[in-house]
Amino acid sequence: MNKNVESIVAEILGQSSVFESTTARVSSSGDYASFADVDSAIAAAKEAFNTFNQQPLASRQKAIEGIKSGLAGFIEKLSEDAHVETGMGNIADKINKNKAALFNTPGVEDLETRAITGDGGITLFEYAPYGVIGSITPSTNPTETIINNTISMIAAGNTICYSPHPGAAKVSIWTIEKIEQLIFDAIGIRNMIVCVKQPSFDSTKAMMSNPDIALLAVTGGPGIVKMAMQTGKKVIGAGEGNPPVIVDETADIAKAGADIVAGASLDYNLPCIAEKAVVVVDSVADKLLTEFTKNGAFWVNNPADISKLKQAVLTEKGVNKDYIGKSPRTILEGAGIAVSGEPRLVVVEVAKDDPLMMREQLMPVLPVARTTDFDDALATALNVEGGCLHTAAMHSQNVSRLNKAAKAMRTSIFVKNGPSFAGIGVGSDGFTTFTIATPTGEGTTSARSFARLRRCVLNEAFNIR
Ligand code: NAD
Repeated sequence: MNKNVESIVAEILGQSSVFESTTARVSSSGDYASFADVDSAIAAAKEAFNTFNQQPLASRQKAIEGIKSGLAGFIEKLSEDAHVETGMGNIADKINKNKAALFNTPGVEDLETRAITGDGGITLFEYAPYGVIGSITPSTNPTETIINNTISMIAAGNTICYSPHPGAAKVSIWTIEKIEQLIFDAIGIRNMIVCVKQPSFDSTKAMMSNPDIALLAVTGGPGIVKMAMQTGKKVIGAGEGNPPVIVDETADIAKAGADIVAGASLDYNLPCIAEKAVVVVDSVADKLLTEFTKNGAFWVNNPADISKLKQAVLTEKGVNKDYIGKSPRTILEGAGIAVSGEPRLVVVEVAKDDPLMMREQLMPVLPVARTTDFDDALATALNVEGGCLHTAAMHSQNVSRLNKAAKAMRTSIFVKNGPSFAGIGVGSDGFTTFTIATPTGEGTTSARSFARLRRCVLNEAFNIR
């Protein structure tokens, strides 16, 4: 009987053993997703890895498709629950962040193979899995980070033990349990992602020291990144930032005003990439501040109110945690400043070295400092960024200056003439990530960041040139 290509492909696709797992692999412990203790959770994720590691690439893609289609209807719930549990940010922006994580995180296609061929044969460089990854997630983007990390890490062939922030435990565990079930439904393997039932700082420490954790991915503040680095394990550290935005006198000031308000107000400034300090050349400072107000910002410009605002948001111990991720109105009222309506952002003029400029606040209060010229602005921005190597932005029409600043800042993300979120693929080209590795250098992470580069050689063959 003659077989055409279509029937041959259909026949091969029909052989489920080639493209998918045939039988459901249940955990030997009988528990799924959330466990009483860290060691049991990691043991289950290791068992899952041993099975997953035998599966074809198609299985990874199938798991990711299962997550995308199954979680899409829960984005609003996740966003609302995260807002209610943490008391931070706003639901509308969380919906957009979760959508970006779910639909714009790359999958298996991110693992691009490199090959060298010659008289000596063929040498392949392939991205292979680590095993069980320990992922520590923040309270500021709890579900976004879990969605984004799961897709990236599973695409690279790993399984994951999560250590969610205790302040976002309920919504994080719900998300992990839901995704675990969706992956099981898609590929029949249990415990591809796991966590403990009651996340605590102690359970995070126990996870970090477990010998079966092959790699630590830490998305959080400087304390936890440093702690992970002291374990001696390989760490992908996504730490704090204090992103400055430079505006020079050549910039399109109307666009700069609109972009900066959009970026800095996103989820009440919780994203680590959001503009956290403005450095503007004096000659266009008043115009920029006026543009901020045209875009819905509240300009605190009388000296008594400036002093009240500063006292409210910065205490002797540092940033006032009561105002992290709170609305502009809540912060202004708390500071005793009269406000009407719902401003998108609070802007306030301060000195170049004011504590408001120098600290990551994670709240919609944006300090603005004047500088004499572009060189002064660049020096100030470098000081404000403080060597976090995280994110910076600049608005200018002068290509030489844009180039000079991009090179000098050395940040993982540098956005020119756009809002900061353009740097994570929102309203721009490029993929989305919520884990921007800073001190360890992987930058905007994707599947390949969570893979080991392996070299595979076939000697004296497969060069067909
Ligand atoms: P955080 O540092 O309070 O917590 C992060 C994680 O570390 C949590 O899971 C928490 O449980 C754990 N943790 C913190 N201290 C610990 C300790 N002493 N022992 C054990 N575990 C500990 O961070 P957060 O407030 O949720 O997030 C905000 C910070 O994270 C900001 O500094 C922000 O810039 C940063 N962040 C960075 C990125 C990035 O991609 N670079 C992304 C999001 C947030």
